[in-house]
Amino acid sequence: MKRREFIKVSTLLSASAAASPSFLLGGCAAKPLPGTGVISSTPTICDMCFWKCAGEVFKEDGELWKITGNADDLHSGGRLCTRGTGGPGAYLDPDRLKKPLMRVTVDGRQTFAEVSWEVALDFISEKMKGIAQTVGPERLALLHHGAGGHHFLHLLRAYGSDSHAEPAFAQCRGPRDVGFRLTLGESASSPERTDMANARCIVLLGSHIGENLHNGQVQTLTEALNRDVTLITVDPRFSVPAGKSKYWLPIKPGTDMALLLAWMNVLIDEGLYDKDYVERYTIGFEQLAKHVRQYTPEWVYLETGIKPDIIRETAREMAKAAPATVVHPGRHAVWYGDDTQRSRAIAMLNVLLGSWNRKGGFYIPEKVGLPEYPLPEYPQPKVTTADAYPGKWPFASQGVTNGVIDASIGDEAFFKGWIVYGTNLPQSIPAVASRLKAAANSLDLLVVVDTMPSEMTGYADVILPECTYLERYDDLRDSGERHPSLALRMPAFEPRYESKPAWWMTKQLGERLGLQQYFPWQDYSEKLDWQLQQVGSSLAEMQKIGVKNFPRKYPLYFKEGQNVKFRTPSRKIELYSEQLAEKGFDPMPVYTPPDSVPEGYYRLNYGRMPAHTFGKTTNNPLLFELAPENQLWVNPLVASEWSLQSGDYVRLGSPTGVVSNKVRVRVTERIGPDSIYMAHGFGHKSKRLRLTAGVGADDSELMSNIKIDPIMGGTGMRANFVTFVKETTTEIHS
Ligand code: SF4
Repeated sequence: MKRREFIKVSTLLSASAAASPSFLLGGCAAKPLPGTGVISSTPTICDMCFWKCAGEVFKEDGELWKITGNADDLHSGGRLCTRGTGGPGAYLDPDRLKKPLMRVTVDGRQTFAEVSWEVALDFISEKMKGIAQTVGPERLALLHHGAGGHHFLHLLRAYGSDSHAEPAFAQCRGPRDVGFRLTLGESASSPERTDMANARCIVLLGSHIGENLHNGQVQTLTEALNRDVTLITVDPRFSVPAGKSKYWLPIKPGTDMALLLAWMNVLIDEGLYDKDYVERYTIGFEQLAKHVRQYTPEWVYLETGIKPDIIRETAREMAKAAPATVVHPGRHAVWYGDDTQRSRAIAMLNVLLGSWNRKGGFYIPEKVGLPEYPLPEYPQPKVTTADAYPGKWPFASQGVTNGVIDASIGDEAFFKGWIVYGTNLPQSIPAVASRLKAAANSLDLLVVVDTMPSEMTGYADVILPECTYLERYDDLRDSGERHPSLALRMPAFEPRYESKPAWWMTKQLGERLGLQQYFPWQDYSEKLDWQLQQVGSSLAEMQKIGVKNFPRKYPLYFKEGQNVKFRTPSRKIELYSEQLAEKGFDPMPVYTPPDSVPEGYYRLNYGRMPAHTFGKTTNNPLLFELAPENQLWVNPLVASEWSLQSGDYVRLGSPTGVVSNKVRVRVTERIGPDSIYMAHGFGHKSKRLRLTAGVGADDSELMSNIKIDPIMGGTGMRANFVTFVKETTTEIHS
């Protein structure tokens, strides 16, 4: 069926009365103390964001009581963040997807109908066979985010396709990882390999640790602050870390590159860089010294608004603490389209300070290294994801979501089918609405797998309800870290309703496609047990302890004077990038002034709030209680000009005529008069998200000026402008 109508998910399922938060909380309110009942616990890995903290699910008499951190988990410091403790809300949310749904036409109107798993899986597998036979399996793409995506990637590869993309790359940390790899031969890793625990100076550029609550990172920054670390925060907004800083540099938006180049200018000009480190490990220093000569603090002041003496003073602070200085690589790095180059500048600044793989700078991550379960080799795909957008973004190390979407539009489109796992594309890809609709109208198959009826489900042919992380096995956690460790996620409960784990769905599809040899387990726990036994553990042991720590085999840092071969073509740190020059890009990071703000408009500045992980958690009844809506930060001068007061509701308008949902104003001097700010993840339109639908504004839909990074395809989102469309009502819900 083509020409898909977007189906408001409100039209499906039998409606039940709208639930209030207090009603929802009735089933999961934490008891003050255990009673006389029988207490049991089950290990888990939190899935409320992607940081993978290990936890324990406590039950009393078989009923969910609470989720806490696993005390043995060094990655999380034994603690969960606010969102992690809100995990019961995800399990108990009455708005969860409950049964497989298929698009049908009734009386000329498209809607969804509940179907059995057999019907849904038969339909998908027949469509997949059709795509493989007519155009080849590579024309089926996976768009994914989160743990269960690995199960679908395994299915896809067994089927013969390696076409996949994650918003976590082109809409988040891709430019950072590519920029670091081009320079150092390695990425900044996730979790970030920053050694903030031992740092004496930490520099944050537009990185809002404490607002984005990556648990272990917040804890180490807090410990560093308790040790009197020198914190330098560069941010146009007076963010939470800005309030803890020795230096807050309220930079003009879009000029961070100029500041980074000026800092390098000062370090080189004053001879404050680590000469031994630079001589031993780098190539291209002479070109760098020559290149940054033009970026004097006096010149850069005119661009950034940061006074020359502050630029010099902060550069000296960094040098004084080096190599125990971290210039943090950040995480959401897609800003202005020159983001790979800005990330390269951050990497280069760290190199001048000699902090890469040195104590107090960055450490060398190590993982346990679980062996792969023995399975047949995957068939070799004839084409790759990048063949869908030939000649574009030569350094994209993963599939680029925008490229996949654009290559899915029209009758001659490269891609003929999508499986979308755990990612709500209407909110995660900026300004995507019309392209998403066009792609959905072109595809032969569109499957959405989720726990919640997100906006993306409205585009699907088939919706598969995944059970939550508390009801399933997933792959073991084996991340590169300071302390190698394994962690287990296992079911604490049977899946509610008719939801199923992703490993089960992919096994069922694999068997229908004749790929059963790739799914030899009856239960996914068999695979995990085999892997654990290869490293001297077992599923039975992990079911008891949840986390197993292993000793490191390799040093945490470079040894003094150690010879190192970096994973770059020259085997050195590449300050001058021959790789970029060969492809026609600047071999050095170059500053380009940002677009100026159109008359009557304001820069759209967005970020995170501690209680939510984008739009993924805004309907969670526990977290909704904590943070029901986003707020719009407005400078008092702007508020006065528009006669706005804190508590008013306004709509925002984009230059292309998109008008947002209503959002509550907060008048504050913490934002400058050229910008407004809001947290991302609100303004849901899916009415089946009964708590959060119509609450707050969605920044993504207001973006119309996307700056694509020509090096790796990232979508720069910080060059967008909005104006006010004032409302008089004080109602939150539309
Ligand atoms: Fe869960 Fe918080 Fe850890 Fe994310 S940082 S995995 S939400 S506890």
